[in-house]
Amino acid sequence: MSEPSLRAKELDAADGLAPLRSRFVLDPGTVYLDGNSLGALPAHVPDRVADVVRRQWGELRIRSWEESGWWAAPERIGDRIAPLVGAAPGQIVVGDSTSVNVFKALVAAVRMAGEHRDELLVDATTFPTDGYLAESAARLTGRTLRAVTPQEVPAALGRRTAAVLLNHVDYRTGRLHDLPGLTAASHAAGALAVWDLCHSAGALPVGLDEHGVDLAVGCTYKYLNGGPGAPAYLYVRRALQPRFDSPLPGWNSHAEPFGMAPSYTPAPGAARGRVGTPDILSMLALEAALEVWDGVSLAAVRAKSLALTDFFLECVTAYTEPGRLTSVTPGPHGQRGSQVALRCADAADVMKRLIARGVVGDHRAPDVLRFGFTPLYVSFADVERAARVLGEVVADRDGPAGGAATAEPARAG
Ligand SMILES: *Cc1c(COP(=O)(O)O)cnc(C)c1O
Repeated sequence: MSEPSLRAKELDAADGLAPLRSRFVLDPGTVYLDGNSLGALPAHVPDRVADVVRRQWGELRIRSWEESGWWAAPERIGDRIAPLVGAAPGQIVVGDSTSVNVFKALVAAVRMAGEHRDELLVDATTFPTDGYLAESAARLTGRTLRAVTPQEVPAALGRRTAAVLLNHVDYRTGRLHDLPGLTAASHAAGALAVWDLCHSAGALPVGLDEHGVDLAVGCTYKYLNGGPGAPAYLYVRRALQPRFDSPLPGWNSHAEPFGMAPSYTPAPGAARGRVGTPDILSMLALEAALEVWDGVSLAAVRAKSLALTDFFLECVTAYTEPGRLTSVTPGPHGQRGSQVALRCADAADVMKRLIARGVVGDHRAPDVLRFGFTPLYVSFADVERAARVLGEVVADRDGPAGGAATAEPARAG
């Protein structure tokens, strides 16, 4: 047995989160490293969804809005997500997609920032949808949009800045950005900080309340395992809620939704972030999925996540000829999320062959292989196998004399 596979055995034996793995539907022939795109299915969810469909919908029908708690689900499930992102209850509402929530948050932030602040900053390296929506939000509110890297944000902030939209973890490189520092810098300039937590929630502690984040959004189908198209969430810091002026003031966010008033009066609290009728089937699948977090320590999740990514980088170094792959994920733990991104010539083809051999990650154009490490169900044996197969696939493709790969070896540090 190779040295890395012995290490994997030791690490798995010492892993306090290992028992959680059995709560997910996993296929023993596959190493699933794409939980940063679509989390695996918690095993109890299908029966719960069947109950929602057959009994709550099929038998109770309209009564379920009250009796099955459908109406209050957006706030109730928001409170279930709250501890996972470091928020006290009453500040998160679940619903709509992340894209829609980015729009709500940005327009509301601009409205709160005041007329004289005429500029919006957006992460230039962002997942595209955030950038598209920021551009539309800026155009709609008559602000100028400036795209800057998170590192450039402190210098770009000023008296003109209304709000800054940043990603906690970069979807491509896996870089963890400085949420406490950049939030404080935004506040020092009098701007609002809006964070996208898609690639951090469920993988590491976020600390929204602790760090004074103003608004945040995130999806629930990645590390939160809520299922394909599961609804996203919107956090509005309690102190800002009375001033949160939604650009999408649907009837579900009305103070008296069943008053059917011709004019709009916003509901107090997190419900102000609602729009229309919630997508109950997806939402209740998410609610069931969130049960796997009961009693799970986020500190333990973070520790395992870092151990997994460290070990993957170590194994890639051990199993891959130098020069084939370059890690674009930062080495320092303080700058790393829960994924490893490797630059690789012909990444699309390499990933196709990895998947054919049972190692599922994904690739992002033009040349990045992405591997997401979900601490709840990825084992160290998975990591060792993925790195071993990757080494074989890459060697096979180029042959010993191949010249297409990049200059630097993958590094664990
Ligand atoms: C996954 C992801 C999204 C997804 O947005 P949808 O509206 O759910 O399609 C948005 N932003 C970031 C940063 C993401 O990683």
